[in-house]
This record gives sequence, C-alpha cells and structure tokens, in this order.
Amino acid sequence: MNKEYNPYQNMLRVLDDAAIKLGLQKNDYITLRFPERQLVVSVPVVMDDGHTEVFEGYRVQHSSTRGPCKGGIRFHPDSNIDEVKALAAWMTWKCAVVNIPYGGAKGGIKVDPAKLTENELRKMVRRYTAMILPVLGPEKDIPAPDVNTDAKIMAWIMDTFSMIKGYAVPAVVTGKPLEIGGSLGRNEATGRGVMFTLLNLLEKINCDPKNMTVAVQGFGNVGSVTAKLIQKQGCKIVGIGDAFCALYKKTGINIEAAIKYAAENGKSLAGYQEDDIEIITNDELLALDVDVLCPAALENQINGDNADRIRAKIIVEAANGPTAKEADEVLDIKGTKIVPDILANAGGVVVSYFEWVQNQESFMWDEDYINNNLKKIMKKSFDDIWKIHIEKNVSMRMAAYILALDRVVRAKRLRGVFP
Ligand code: NAD
Repeated sequence: MNKEYNPYQNMLRVLDDAAIKLGLQKNDYITLRFPERQLVVSVPVVMDDGHTEVFEGYRVQHSSTRGPCKGGIRFHPDSNIDEVKALAAWMTWKCAVVNIPYGGAKGGIKVDPAKLTENELRKMVRRYTAMILPVLGPEKDIPAPDVNTDAKIMAWIMDTFSMIKGYAVPAVVTGKPLEIGGSLGRNEATGRGVMFTLLNLLEKINCDPKNMTVAVQGFGNVGSVTAKLIQKQGCKIVGIGDAFCALYKKTGINIEAAIKYAAENGKSLAGYQEDDIEIITNDELLALDVDVLCPAALENQINGDNADRIRAKIIVEAANGPTAKEADEVLDIKGTKIVPDILANAGGVVVSYFEWVQNQESFMWDEDYINNNLKKIMKKSFDDIWKIHIEKNVSMRMAAYILALDRVVRAKRLRGVFP
C-alpha cells in the first residue's frame, strides 16, 4: 500500500461529495464523519518458545444509528487504525445499502498469522476477544471473518465470549462453523453476492455472461468463490492472482482445479500448472484486456499510478476499497463501469444477518431459502442504486453513497444527538 494513501480520508472524500449531492449541510451528517468508538488493545501472547510477543489490535465502531454494529476482523501485518476506521465506515454504508438493521464496525490485529503456530494463533484470538469483550455482544457489536480469518477463528471468538459470560452466546459472531450455529450458505455468501451483482449489471446493459472475459485479483474466500460461481454462469476466467503469483490463460482457467490446488498448498496459487497457462505480474493481471475486472484482495489496488493502464470495461469491487478516489476519476473519464464495494460484496453481511437472526430464533433455515433471499436483497439494492445512478446522472459509487447516507441521516434525525 503506498504511503500517502489513507483509506479513511478516501472514504471521507466520497462521503462529503455524496452529502453535497444530497443537499445536506455539514451539521446534518457531521457525526458520521467520526467513528463512534475506537478501541486499541495490546494482545500479549506467550509464544511456543516461551518468550512473550505483544500484538496491536483494534475494534472500531463507526455507527450504531441503524442497529448493532457489524463487521469483520482482519489479521494483516499492515493493519492499522486508519484502515480499520475506513473498513468500519464502509460497513455502515454497506448495511444501509442492503437495508439491514445494522451499523458498521471492523476489527484487526497487526500480525502475519502465517508466522504463528496454531497454538499461538488460538491464544492470540482468545486474548484479543477478551480485550475487546466489553464492546462486543449480539445486541452491541457482532464480528465476522475478513482477510486471514475464517470459521475456525469465529468459533474461538464465540467460545471465549461464551466462557466469560458463563453460557453459550452463538449470536456474538457470524461466519461460525455450522455445528455451533453457523448458517448454511455463509461461507460462499460474499462471492455469491458478487455473482448476483455482476448478473444484475449484465442484464441492465444487455450483455451475456457467456461472452464475458474476467480477471480476478485475490483468491481467498471472496475471490475464489466469485471466480467459481461466475465461471458456472458462463464467464471465461482468463486471469487469477493472489499475494504469491498471478496467472493468465487465454482460453480460460479451470477454477475448481485452482481452488483445490490452493487449498492443498498453503492457500497459495504459486506453482499451479495447466497447459498454456502463463505466469504474469500482479500489475499485468490488473491491466489485462478483459471485459470484467474483479479485485478481491485489499484496498487501493487500483490507484492513481495504474488507473490509466486498466483496460477492463467493468470493475466489480469484491474487495473493500480496492479503488482509490484518484483512480475513480480517471476511470470515470474512460467510461469504465464500476460497481462499488458497498453493493458488490454486501452478500457476506446479508447472510451474516441471516445467521444472527437464526441464532436469535434458535432455528435453522435451509440453504435454498437463504440463497433466494440473498438474491432478492441483492437485486433490490442493485435496482435502488441503478435508479439513482440514471436519474441523478452520477456514478454507481456515488449513487450507492447517496442511498446509504440518506438512510443513515434519516435514522440519525429521528434519534437526535444524545443528550
Ligand atoms: P482472504 O484472506 O480469504 O483472501 C485474501 C486474498 O487476497 C488471498 O488470496 C491473498 O493471497 C490475496 N492477497 C493479499 N494481498 C494481496 C496482494 N497484495 N496482491 C494480490 N493478492 C493479494 O480474504 P477475503 O475474506 O477473501 O477478503 C478479500 C476482500 O474481500 C477484502 O477486501 C475483504 O475486506 C473483502 N470482503 C470480505 C468478506 C468476507 O465475507 N470474507 C465480505 C465482504 C468483503
């Protein structure tokens, strides 16, 4: 990530633009420019060799105006308070876009989890959970998986919270394993939501998925599921990549085989082989001459430095914040259609919401019911944004922010500023 990029400032710039378009005065939304609560914690872990390591952890609650705060937890060596603040705010806007009764939050630990043993990782997760426990709870703030965290880690969070409370509290976290109250469909929900969003867009612009070539950056939970599901819809995935390598194949990559390979090789695509597959750089992957580019890794991948080299006609933001504002401006002039993160990757939080509701009801829904309801919500949200995009002649990102900010500001007005 380049040094001068600050994701929170990036978010504020888009927010201020949306407020102007909505005709808001600063006073109408000033509270939303600041996170409600920011917690920085020290997370000591006695490592396997006996020495103690102290990691820095964060939990930021951006807004609880529309309901309990909701958002994932990320483990990454570059994690920092500004990134977590931005990710928390994006959760507020995302939950408002899909109109589910949540505010936004996010958490992180500055750590490379690949360098920890299983034992050290578990101790770190449990201590982090204990440190942020005062602000967590099904009615307060509900974490979920994000970069480098998964169902196993959610199970440790649920157990730690429950042990300290003295009773099982499955609804404190979503993205759990099925055995302890996870939801059917949650693991694939974000990628499935990206797939629905791409199909919704292609329908609007009269394009057939079977004629689309696609490049996907990031091959973790979101990228790999997205690639698999859109390939099933007929798209040709010609480029994929992760933190370790990027690959190109003109006739299309066998995504199921690549997923199997990465799962068996430390979540890495390095060394994956197919006839006629070429190794390319990450920059080349982003600049491929494809119809659709799907960034599904980290923030600021498409920025002022590389925006003019992006050739995709459509960008579907599966990651959070992959496009910096400078890049947005360049791509807008080029006529690139960008489907913003707060719509495109909202499938994850929608099914997290379904999981939380099922936990509160102590009842399990079947997978068809979940996927059908996800599809309906993604369609309604897409149509709401498309209408604003056309009527106000603004980008889809601006339309999504206008929709979200309007909903949050209306709720804020009704509640007022305490006291
Ligand atoms: P993950 O840890 O499962 O996968 C991340 C992927 O990105 C890995 O393949 C990793 O190798 C790759 N990557 C990391 N750094 C990279 C780099 N510099 N260049 C290229 N690839 C790189 O994480 P995930 O859950 O798939 O999350 C990916 C993105 O989607 C993040 O922006 C996250 O916030 C967002 N997101 C995730 C969810 C979810 O449900 N997991 C929901 C909404 C949004």
